[in-house]
Amino acid sequence: MAWFKRVEKGIVTPTDQKKETPDGLWYKCPECKAVVTMAEHKRLLHVCGACGHHDRIDAADYFELLFDDGQFTELDADLTSGDPLHFVDTKAYPQRVAATERNTGLKDAVRTAHGVSAGQPLVVAAMDFKFIGGSMGSVVGEKIARAIDFARQSRTPFLMISRSGGARMMEAGYSLMQMAKTSAKLALLAEAGVPYVSLLTDPTTGGVTASFAMLGDFNIAEPGALIGFAGPRVIKETIGKDLPKGFQSAEFVLEHGFLDFIVDRRELKHRLADLLGLLRPAPVAEARGARRIAIASTKAN
Ligand SMILES: [Zn+2]
Repeated sequence: MAWFKRVEKGIVTPTDQKKETPDGLWYKCPECKAVVTMAEHKRLLHVCGACGHHDRIDAADYFELLFDDGQFTELDADLTSGDPLHFVDTKAYPQRVAATERNTGLKDAVRTAHGVSAGQPLVVAAMDFKFIGGSMGSVVGEKIARAIDFARQSRTPFLMISRSGGARMMEAGYSLMQMAKTSAKLALLAEAGVPYVSLLTDPTTGGVTASFAMLGDFNIAEPGALIGFAGPRVIKETIGKDLPKGFQSAEFVLEHGFLDFIVDRRELKHRLADLLGLLRPAPVAEARGARRIAIASTKAN
């Protein structure tokens, strides 16, 4: 059995000639540990083929997924944050923003764009978690507000894809004001009769959950997404009780009536097209008429 024995003794490969698997070639699912190549994982839209675990993806990936032929026009791409509070934690806020811009190639935690999805015009705002935890500062709020204005003025349905740790600490009060601003813009959008679909992805928490993410005509989510206001640890410490299994998962939130449905990323584009087909924006005169009726009925009461 010669092939079991090392015939030549003392084979030593110098380190620089050793062949190693390059990093980033394989993806291992954190849920079921199934291993696929990165190329295959990307082809499956970063969803595990074995167990359906949805890996986090960026705004750019959603644009690629949703817009026909990956064609879209970005809105307000160059908007960047100021430093109104001269905030310093482990480093000064402008330095943190500059470093994050360098590392991620992004200008802030949301990108907004319009284009055509499954043959229908659509405005999309998608958040990037890797930009300071997808936190909502004044740029995030302003870009979302402007995207909503664009949707209202062009009577195009609006899709918000949330993925956020909540308000941006470094902008404090300015960050919290974005909740009121985006909510007010969405009220105008609803008044104009233009549909708004909110997609909540992993994780959607804090001030984002407490404002635009929960204000959709339809609130939908990706499977397994963490959705909540305060984190589970904070709640557990506050109420002094163990939390139920699966607390704050999309499935739990759906069961408790906060979501309309959960959508697999691989079906997102078609499900969205079906939904928007049903919700086609009302013609201007009709929307105004509906509002008059609403006002009349308020007065009657
Ligand atoms: Zn898996």
